[in-house]
Amino acid sequence: MNEPAKEEQPLPEETRAKEKTLAEQAPPSYECRSCGYVYVPSKGDNQGSVPAGTLFEDLPNDWRCPVCGVRKTQFVNIGAQGAPSGFSENLDYGLGVNRLTPAQKNILIFGALGLGFLFFLSLYGLN
Ligand SMILES: [Zn+2]
Repeated sequence: MNEPAKEEQPLPEETRAKEKTLAEQAPPSYECRSCGYVYVPSKGDNQGSVPAGTLFEDLPNDWRCPVCGVRKTQFVNIGAQGAPSGFSENLDYGLGVNRLTPAQKNILIFGALGLGFLFFLSLYGLN
């Protein structure tokens, strides 16, 4: 009664799904020009009974700013908030560095820092 062994589960699948979600989670946010309230689509608007995930464009026309009560027309598009900047667009640039996972990037960055530090220390050895 042995279950088939679960081996060789490729990791990249999860990573890819994550990248996709991040990109999809980045609809533009809108800021109220009157009071500075920011409508974030991923959060929705609790007071206006707007479910999370509702795009600003999809809000009812009679939706008002929950803080100061101005109309939708007083809101300006301020772009995606909390999204990794240029995450998807830059994947193919940067000599492949941008295709590294964050963990790999950290190793690269801190590895370089460590090497630089060691080099710096070695200067003292010259005395
Ligand atoms: Zn407002």
